[in-house]
Amino acid sequence: MSRVVVAVDGPAGTGKSSVSRGLARALNAHYLDTGAMYRIVTLSMLRADIDITDPASIAAVADVPLSVGYDPNVDRAYLGGEDVSDEIRGDEVTKAVSAVSAVPEVRARLVAMQRELASGSDNVVVEGRDIGTVVLPDADVKIFLTASAETRARRRNDQNVAAGLPDEYEAVLADVRRRDHLDSTRAVSPLRPAEDAVIVDTSDMTEAEVVAQLLELVEQRSGAVR
Ligand code: C5P
Repeated sequence: MSRVVVAVDGPAGTGKSSVSRGLARALNAHYLDTGAMYRIVTLSMLRADIDITDPASIAAVADVPLSVGYDPNVDRAYLGGEDVSDEIRGDEVTKAVSAVSAVPEVRARLVAMQRELASGSDNVVVEGRDIGTVVLPDADVKIFLTASAETRARRRNDQNVAAGLPDEYEAVLADVRRRDHLDSTRAVSPLRPAEDAVIVDTSDMTEAEVVAQLLELVEQRSGAVR
């Protein structure tokens, strides 16, 4: 039985990370969170006081030493040797990441790393925005998750409140829309489904239901065995 390569793309707040991890566990696969890679690069830029409105300044220091976990059960991200797993999820990085990820030199470097990490002989689930379109156009199964902006903002706001942050639904909704717009209108690798992707709307589904549906899709499309 040959290995299966699954690409999961879609905007923030669709439950993409949780369901991709769930799918990777069910398939006994590796898991690669490409968003974490863009976040580490962004953190490095912010720490170095790089002007993130200037693509040339970003491009000049795009060669950031980074590594991410490759296992669905280990959510770790490193900048150099430092564990920055929590810091990359913070507000500052979240606000700046779209600008940094729009820079072609950053993308070229990270895409090359992602291809390298996804090669090999094991099953792998790779999650991001451009996996099915650019990073792994030959992936066996391509999934594009969607959900309404309101649903995604509500989920994110609920997570924030659960984590002790203020209840700011309107601000979260505005941020979801802002990031969607930036990610889908950028010149390099805009966020869009691959032509052969299966689009799954998660608005009215639980995480478990989405994982079950994706697993079924993988089994149908690849004949993968668990
Ligand atoms: O998935 P996550 O929200 O962590 O991604 C953070 C940001 O990284 C996205 O808003 C997007 O700008 C960028 N990204 C990207 N391409 C990917 C993954 C993430 O441009 N494959």
